[in-house]
Amino acid sequence: MAQVTLSGLRHSYLPDPKEGQDYALKEIDITWRDGGAYALLGPSGCGKTTLLNIISGLIVPTEGAVLFDDRDVTADPPDRRNIAQVFQFPVIYDNMTVRENLSFPLRNRGVEPGLIEQRVRETANMLDVTGILDRRASGLNPDNKQKISMGRALVREDVNVVMFDEPLTVIDPHLKWKLRSKLKELHHRVKATMIYVTHDQTEALTFADEVVVMQEGEVVQIGTPVELFERPQHTFVGHFIGSPGMNILPCEARKNSALFEGHEVALEGPLGGQAGELTLGIRPEHVLIAEDGIPATVAKVADAGRHFIIDAVVGKSVVKVVDSRNPPEKGSIIHLHFRPERSRVYRDGWIATEPRT
Ligand code: ATP
Repeated sequence: MAQVTLSGLRHSYLPDPKEGQDYALKEIDITWRDGGAYALLGPSGCGKTTLLNIISGLIVPTEGAVLFDDRDVTADPPDRRNIAQVFQFPVIYDNMTVRENLSFPLRNRGVEPGLIEQRVRETANMLDVTGILDRRASGLNPDNKQKISMGRALVREDVNVVMFDEPLTVIDPHLKWKLRSKLKELHHRVKATMIYVTHDQTEALTFADEVVVMQEGEVVQIGTPVELFERPQHTFVGHFIGSPGMNILPCEARKNSALFEGHEVALEGPLGGQAGELTLGIRPEHVLIAEDGIPATVAKVADAGRHFIIDAVVGKSVVKVVDSRNPPEKGSIIHLHFRPERSRVYRDGWIATEPRT
């Protein structure tokens, strides 16, 4: 297994790129430590597949380098990188048994039979497929087929990185959570460097110790699931992560507070003075319905099972509130309190307040 370093990476599909928008990847600098579990998360078109293909060697980046430990592999073809990949659709041989499928990557590399037998047994055990080892792969359901695909990636001991590219796409929705937790467990057992690519926040946050959030070819934040949720560095992260996402509201700056629709809101800390468009970011979970505070009209109440999501109108803005108590009546007036330590101001999308220490 290896530490993976992406240094000053840029990539354009155009022959003669000039401006930022000509690049599918704008500037990527990341170090993934040996044995870590990472996710690349972002909407369609943000550059996840391009980055994955650069790591696996299918694409040579326009600029920058890829290092496995200290070895520069930027120009190496895929077969010299020792990477195992799991794709959206299972890659298995239908005419072989499960056992033959799992043995194949090892037999191909000339591993001795005793060790193959042992690795197949261990891998099958981890994936709970020991009972179907002698079944033909063609008869398996998509869930088991994808497990075998994962097994083929995990059975090898010589890989530098295991990469998963949206591996749960074909899995039945009610089985997804099972495989999701299985993957996390596998990482604990195998301790390989794993990179999981997805546009699904639940998959990324469940799997990864650290998540790289991408938007339009750029990394907007790298952090633990808690960091991304608690203190988004960019409004994009705040809105993309969480359900519903963070409220992003128009505001003006005051010295240590913000003015939102004419109401003063205390902030987590001081706001530096520079020009730019300011917005106030606060998660719906941190807006409280209080005795007094900012008056708002209830426009909508949605029952989300364990809590209610309330749309409260203040001036021209809608504030989403997550509340688990008895919901207010539609059309009624409520009062909102924004928890100061969770109220942050963003300038041109980037966080601009400093937390008080
Ligand atoms: P998705 O989840 O839809 O696969 P993604 O996050 O993986 O999206 P990429 O497929 O890496 O994003 O695409 C990043 C950008 O590069 C997009 O603007 C896309 O249109 C462009 N792009 C991707 N592949 C090519 C290609 N072969 N030629 C030209 N442009 C491409």
